[in-house]
Amino acid sequence: MQIIKREVLKEKPVFDNKLGFGRYFTDYMFTMKYNVEEGWHDAKIEPNAPVQFDLATTIFHYAQGIFEGMKAFKRVDGSIGVFRPGENWARMNRSAERMCIPQFPEDVVEEGLEELLKLEKDWIPSLPGTALYIRPTIVATKVMLGVHASTEYLFFIILSPVGSYYAHGLEPTKLLVEDYYTRATVGGTGEAKCLGNYACSMKAGEEAEKKGFDQVLWLDAQEKKYVEEVGSMNMFFVIDGEVVTPALVGSILPGITRKSAIYLLQQNGYRVSERRVSIDEVVEASRCGKLEEAFGTGTAAVISPVGEFEYKGERFVVNGGKMGEITSWLYDNITGIQYGKKPDVYGWVKKI
Ligand SMILES: *Cc1c(COP(=O)(O)O)cnc(C)c1O
Repeated sequence: MQIIKREVLKEKPVFDNKLGFGRYFTDYMFTMKYNVEEGWHDAKIEPNAPVQFDLATTIFHYAQGIFEGMKAFKRVDGSIGVFRPGENWARMNRSAERMCIPQFPEDVVEEGLEELLKLEKDWIPSLPGTALYIRPTIVATKVMLGVHASTEYLFFIILSPVGSYYAHGLEPTKLLVEDYYTRATVGGTGEAKCLGNYACSMKAGEEAEKKGFDQVLWLDAQEKKYVEEVGSMNMFFVIDGEVVTPALVGSILPGITRKSAIYLLQQNGYRVSERRVSIDEVVEASRCGKLEEAFGTGTAAVISPVGEFEYKGERFVVNGGKMGEITSWLYDNITGIQYGKKPDVYGWVKKI
């Protein structure tokens, strides 16, 4: 792989929890181009610097683009690990298919990421909960205004050191159950990690924040009856001893943390069911004391306990507003595998 070095490296920020999320970017990026004649080509590592685009570039007008999110961890033995990257490449190619973006070679980007991480190893923070966030993205780069799939694309990977999601201790989140706005519909793009999904959910997010909530809990678009997911997290409930998560019906993003959580729970004897969960069922369980826990799963937070939610003006507190037993067990086990504090029994960590 070609590596174009920069003459002067950037000054690194202090690697503490003030890093926040996605505010600092490393010295280098991986890039690869696509055109019809050559297919995906010109994979290389180059200085991360601003790139110029014509204002008629497709991505600015029709949002034909997709992304991924994963993390590299500094492990307790000093090695560097990435959590299940193969799952992210496979999902990215599925998102590509949905958005008429040509399939990319997974081995090339995997090698690109590996080389990039080796070059940027000093950018991986090591305090508990911190990580190097990895953002692979594909954008349509053809200069044209016709509403058609682009014939040119740019694949890039940028890296950002991030602080612990729980920098201020573990505060369970407050969710507003959204019964007007819609994020995704079956047949739409909810299953794909595509750019437009996030633009269209900002309005509900802002209104929820104004009312003092952290995030929105989405319901299905057709009936506003079934729980779907949170902004960038899949949703789990513990109802009467059973762990329940909404089935992947087509409008829900198939999270890799979700998949890992289900597997770990099942392997350890928990009862897990993937099925449709109505908001009425959750409310009813809460009313009769059977809603034991609620949490979200996603790469950024890993596991995020839900302390309360509001539905149609009524407030429901989960587990006294504290993190539950299963939530905490999952957090310890998944982060344990990621940081090397627990054995990686399933071979989920790719060592760099
Ligand atoms: C990325 C994402 C998730 C979480 O997926 P992970 O693979 O676990 O990080 C959940 N929902 C949405 C809408 C997402 O974009």
